[in-house]
Amino acid sequence: MEFNIHLTPEKIKLELDRYIIGQTKTKKIISVAIYNHYKRLYLINKKKILLEKSNILLVGPTGSGKTLLVKTLAKIVNVPIIIVDATSFTEAGYVGDDVETIIQKLLHECDYNVDLAERSIIYIDEIDKISKKNDFFSGKDVSGEGVQQSLLKLIEGMNISVTPLVDKKNNQQQNVFIVNTTNILFIVGGAFSGIENLISIRINNELSFIKKKNNNSFLNFTSTEDLINFGMIPEFLGRLPIIAIFKELNILELIYILIKPKNSLLKQFCYLFIIEGIIIKFSFESIKEIAKVAIKKKIGARGLKSIIENILLETMFIFSSKKKLKYIIIYKEVLTLKKKPIFIYK
Ligand code: ADP
Repeated sequence: MEFNIHLTPEKIKLELDRYIIGQTKTKKIISVAIYNHYKRLYLINKKKILLEKSNILLVGPTGSGKTLLVKTLAKIVNVPIIIVDATSFTEAGYVGDDVETIIQKLLHECDYNVDLAERSIIYIDEIDKISKKNDFFSGKDVSGEGVQQSLLKLIEGMNISVTPLVDKKNNQQQNVFIVNTTNILFIVGGAFSGIENLISIRINNELSFIKKKNNNSFLNFTSTEDLINFGMIPEFLGRLPIIAIFKELNILELIYILIKPKNSLLKQFCYLFIIEGIIIKFSFESIKEIAKVAIKKKIGARGLKSIIENILLETMFIFSSKKKLKYIIIYKEVLTLKKKPIFIYK
């Protein structure tokens, strides 16, 4: 990708705002980081200056927008992205193979364009699941440390030789591709659930008043030390100099998520009905109720879709056979008292 001088951090943030609700400071941090990353690649190309890359660590509860942010970024800067799950490394055991698998997947995504693959983004999700956990009885690391160690070189930069995925029709002769990972931007993310307690211990309850207000606020104070206490090894964190915190979404933000983004959930559901010639309306109170239920479920915006699917199940079951149905109205009691929506026929 050619460095686009017009894609300033401000413009990246504006673009992110169209899809991602809230997380304002995080979006700023990421916009600057992405701008710098691709500027750095441009400067390397021009052989002007050698700058070290800055990979990114995203910390925040499930359903707060981490994956959405990474996917949106890849679209903005127009580079391929692959998303891998750190837990798959733990299970496979033979880490060398896994590292190769990631790059194989990436290269496939890039249609075997090595140059493109070397400038892409790799998102490693669930990174907190490979934290170092000491076995209480033996005192030995029983899971993640070895995996973190093995990811170090990949993140920092190494040559990896990969053979194409078998189903690739153009590559019958099984060429070997060498991909260098030095310029790939690594973003890793995890919920780190329970880290708030470690933070509160670190700051020695000095700020315990925050806890009374909102336990989630502790996340804002996340430091490398807390992440080490959680079980991440210092060498691994050393390769992730940018830490961006995602907050738990509040009710207003969840309401916005339902109605505001370009392809918001409610817009998507309305579209499903419109193509059948039916107009579906949600009262504001019903939207608020959907957000409230999601908060109770504690899975952030992830819960919104299943809540709507749930309340619309019966309606979606019958609507395509009711030829004269014109309007459907969802009101608060459809959620709170499980009442039926209002149906208006032609
Ligand atoms: P996670 O933080 O667990 O990676 P995701 O990014 O996968 O969460 O979020 C799941 C879904 O919830 C997204 O696909 C999106 O529809 C919605 N969502 C989550 N957070 C936001 C947000 N801040 N703004 C808009 N939509 C969001």
